[in-house]
Amino acid sequence: MRKTWVLGNWKLNNDSQSIRQWLEDFQQVEVPSNAVVGVAPVSIYSQHVAAHAPQNLLVGSQNVSQFDGGAYTGEVSAAMLSDAKIAFSLVGHSERRMYFGETNEITKDKVNALLQTGIIPVLCCGESQVQYETGKSQSVVESQLRAVLDHVAAEDVAKLVIAYEPVWAIGTGLTATPEYAQQMHQFIRALVAEYSSSASDLPILYGGSCNGSNAKELFAQADIDGGLIGGASLKVSDFNKIIEAAR
Ligand code: PEP
Repeated sequence: MRKTWVLGNWKLNNDSQSIRQWLEDFQQVEVPSNAVVGVAPVSIYSQHVAAHAPQNLLVGSQNVSQFDGGAYTGEVSAAMLSDAKIAFSLVGHSERRMYFGETNEITKDKVNALLQTGIIPVLCCGESQVQYETGKSQSVVESQLRAVLDHVAAEDVAKLVIAYEPVWAIGTGLTATPEYAQQMHQFIRALVAEYSSSASDLPILYGGSCNGSNAKELFAQADIDGGLIGGASLKVSDFNKIIEAAR
């Protein structure tokens, strides 16, 4: 039985004061036994959050370097994240692909860097609005995923979490219908099954304007194992409604 994951991505938001409040508010949250809950702060704060997070909250990173160390100004390596007790890292988020030139090739290297340190890679994929409207969703997601899966050892595929995030739904208030999201998740699971017998255990999360009103229906779909949550993770009251939907 797969667990339901609810992971927050704070993006470039929050500061030490609002984070202190967030952690205090989170103390009231009751994480259901079938749920895995986590949050990815801005990197400068993640070590603090990891040090102060309760046991029922995983702390993640929004990014990781594909390099192990050396002359790479501004980067943070997977080993450093591990040293700071970071449990998971987003990889290939559409905002990284769009604004920071992250290619499938770089994404593949980042996933492998994380796998070497035992940090869970949350591999993001998803089509743009134009690709959606022109019927290319599956082929785009397929090429994003194959670019990584072709270079990950079969036994390591079981260590991945995949987040399907249609770009047209991220931060726009437009959510994929549960039926459409389910179709895409089913497609992704079948694709992963070509690489690993663990595909049926793989958490596949939905991301894109997921909130307290739509989470329950999305999470009820057979192949949707929770959500990657942007805007609605910034306030514990909103985030908790999504956590409750995991029950
Ligand atoms: C995201 O950033 O991964 C995301 C899904 O954002 P939002 O929930 O704000 O659409």
